[in-house]
Amino acid sequence: MDKFGYMEKYGYEQLCFFHDKSTGLKAITAIHNTVLGPALGGSRFWNYDNEDQAIEDALRLARGMTYKSALAGLALGGGKTVIWGDPSVLRKDPIKREAFWRAFGRYLEGLNGRYITAEDVGTSTQDMVYVNMETDHVVGLPGRSGDPSPYTARGVFKSILACCKHVYGSDDLTGKVVAVQGVGNVGYYLCRYLHESGAKLIISDIKQESIDKVVNEFGATVVAPNEIYGVECDIYAPCALGATVNDDTIPQFKCKIVCGGANNVLKDAPVHGKTLQSKGIVYAPDYLANAGGVINVSYERAEGGYNEEASLRDVDFIYTRMLDILTIAKETGRLTYEVADELAEKRIEAVRNIKSIYTHK
Ligand code: NAD
Repeated sequence: MDKFGYMEKYGYEQLCFFHDKSTGLKAITAIHNTVLGPALGGSRFWNYDNEDQAIEDALRLARGMTYKSALAGLALGGGKTVIWGDPSVLRKDPIKREAFWRAFGRYLEGLNGRYITAEDVGTSTQDMVYVNMETDHVVGLPGRSGDPSPYTARGVFKSILACCKHVYGSDDLTGKVVAVQGVGNVGYYLCRYLHESGAKLIISDIKQESIDKVVNEFGATVVAPNEIYGVECDIYAPCALGATVNDDTIPQFKCKIVCGGANNVLKDAPVHGKTLQSKGIVYAPDYLANAGGVINVSYERAEGGYNEEASLRDVDFIYTRMLDILTIAKETGRLTYEVADELAEKRIEAVRNIKSIYTHK
């Protein structure tokens, strides 16, 4: 992989490799952009096939975090860590697990606050407790902002409301049918919000216990994983995997709106964004819809400490921002994700420009 070429093309600042022989830690931290503030992004623990795949994932996810925080109005830049290995190995050895995460924490401390980590796929809040023994540059700790999933779900729910307002002229969900793919952390809380608002739920998952919980609590109808794309519904809410809007699935869609918690929902954004638009399906840019978690976690760093009331106010503001983006896209005939990208880029540029004014800080 031509790393400098890739960094130059997409404007990355830094790519760091960490290795600790005693624990076997292999971590890659990508810092995309720190104009708005320190780069924040979780640490993903994944058994990649090879080194290039791990690097590409770190770079791609870090850039996504820049856009997500910028559009959410946060004073944060974008970064991400991937840890290359098998997370299950550590679960069997508590001593190694502590040493592993503390070694990682010591490396992060060396970045001197340019990057702040949090939990992500394959990592837990307890892992972050170990990281926190060595550095303060970590958020999402127990007893502070806690699990981001309910806040992510709330942002997705507000986004669905905004989409309905845009498409149907009302954000009353009574009788609306929502097809939720994946009822894990985010999907479960989303189903709760939707159910409480009078929506009907059709769900799919590959874990029976997750399905049972949502069926028992919210009376959802269940379909097989590959059937969720073609069900009769108003809204398709992907909350499991990325890239589920693609050449195979779009022809099956009967929905009017695609809005969910998953990252990188469009397999190929220019192609599939355009296809959705041409079919009259409104696409809610994923990184705005799922920004509730990062908004909430960012409040751990607020002056005076974590403040849930202020965080919820910000998460709920996703509704207004989403509605604005959908309106601009409609009025200009552009794709919704392009409008979102442009707003994020404009904010970064505006803040970059005012930084030319000298202050003592
Ligand atoms: P999770 O692992 O708790 O839930 C995902 C669910 O999807 C699981 O129940 C899993 O069994 C199910 N699933 C996997 N493959 C499936 C398939 N083919 N069909 C149907 N279901 C399938 O993860 P999560 O934390 O709920 O995150 C969901 C998505 O939202 C991910 O893409 C994640 O990157 C994204 N996201 C999460 C957060 C957060 O706060 N947790 C924030 C932003 C984005």
